[in-house]
Amino acid sequence: MGVIDIKNLSFRYKRDFIFDNFSLSVEKGSWITIAGPNGSGKTTLVKILAGLLKNYSSIKILNKEYNKKYELGIRSEMGFVFDVPENYFACETVEDELAFALENMAVAPKTIKKKVDEMTKLFNLEEFLDKNPYELSGGEKQIVALACALILEPRILVLDEALCMVDINKRKQLLDIIKRYNTKKRITVLSFTHNLEEAIYSDRLVILNKGKIVVDGAFPNVFREERVMRKIGLEVPFMIELSQKLKVYNILSDIDLDMDKVVSKLWM
Ligand code: ADP
Repeated sequence: MGVIDIKNLSFRYKRDFIFDNFSLSVEKGSWITIAGPNGSGKTTLVKILAGLLKNYSSIKILNKEYNKKYELGIRSEMGFVFDVPENYFACETVEDELAFALENMAVAPKTIKKKVDEMTKLFNLEEFLDKNPYELSGGEKQIVALACALILEPRILVLDEALCMVDINKRKQLLDIIKRYNTKKRITVLSFTHNLEEAIYSDRLVILNKGKIVVDGAFPNVFREERVMRKIGLEVPFMIELSQKLKVYNILSDIDLDMDKVVSKLWM
């Protein structure tokens, strides 16, 4: 039994089914990357999980049927960070935005202040606290949205291209923070992306194409299926390609994503 169990999900907008008997189980405390080219169904699946598209019948979250009755309860255990976060901002300052959901849950003001301070330090938000979240850059908005999701310590964090506007160095720092929450607080992470570089942080990679799972495996061995990934137009990360080539020359015995380790092997 997973923290999310999708069984035989079928969904269509109009005539054709986007998902037809789709099943996926997500283990507690894992980090799954769900990748796929445009049109593969990633956004549709996120929207179904967020309750924005209604199709409850085939989904269990935290062992409860995902239905209208439990929607609010279940959603308080799940944090969502979308690619365009301003659609979900509700306050005039970043500080209020961080506190907003906690206030709605009637958390004590002292606890709210402590949590807002913690998030401010963790994400270096000091200079943004008084600013209007709508006036921030795209990447800054995404960082605020991530902080707003993590402040609630959800049991499941769903990222939908959540850091696509953050520059690459900062993105790595943010993914490291999420990894700490994932390993220390056992928050389950579902990351939807077209960028396979981000899969490096996950335990499992699921590749969708036209609403079907075409690759599903543990990281990093799943990259043995790189041909399938290329065929559907996904870009395979540089270190995967390099590892594959070095394996051919017996320099590496398996895929290795740690560039420093690979370089030192090359010098041996
Ligand atoms: P992805 O996020 O992987 O790009 P989507 O979930 O956005 O994939 O799209 C999956 C399929 O559903 C595509 O064929 C897309 O054209 C279709 N689709 C998405 N949104 C709508 C909609 N609102 N109405 C009709 N078809 C849609």
